[in-house]
Amino acid sequence: MILANDALTKLRDGNRRFVAGDVDASIASRAHQADLSNGQNPFAIVLACSDSRVPVELVFDQGFGDLFVIRVAGNVVAPSQIGSIEFAASKFGTRLVVVLGHSNCGAVIATLEELALEKTHRSPNLRAIVDRVRPAIEPVLETHGNSDEHSLIGAAVRANINASVERLSHGSLILEQLIDGDELTIVGAEYSIETGQVEFFDER
Ligand SMILES: [Zn+2]
Repeated sequence: MILANDALTKLRDGNRRFVAGDVDASIASRAHQADLSNGQNPFAIVLACSDSRVPVELVFDQGFGDLFVIRVAGNVVAPSQIGSIEFAASKFGTRLVVVLGHSNCGAVIATLEELALEKTHRSPNLRAIVDRVRPAIEPVLETHGNSDEHSLIGAAVRANINASVERLSHGSLILEQLIDGDELTIVGAEYSIETGQVEFFDER
């Protein structure tokens, strides 16, 4: 069993290799499947955005069986995301959950646009995402309303990541019990599309 701190170190080291271009090229081609046919033991769970520029395994230089990844636009927390994390944490004993947002997130920007100008033509399904991002972002508009667009989007992205961490931490009895028993740690992180670096919020 890999403890949360050790899992964080593995992710930090992997992202450093990715940024440096010093990745393990054999990961993708290696025939891991045989070793994993009897089960999996992922050392971290990652809730990330679906954005095509944020391929989770690549940015952490990880391979088959390493990460249990859930991707949804805007890294929002809905029942199916909570259920996926409950499943992985309970079934595999994975101790670390990372909510990985990223710079210039389209779901966050769409929500900011929506708050600026009410739009009614979104499908109910797309609305289900925007409506989950919106509560995190409304307070940001109050504090950063006069900031330039870049700062506003940056603050909104971070608020959305923190909101997902908060929602996961209190959205499920199973996860709460694991957290209370020191068996699960949930941290937010932001991937920079510009630099490739992941900043973990616990480093602040
Ligand atoms: Zn995104």
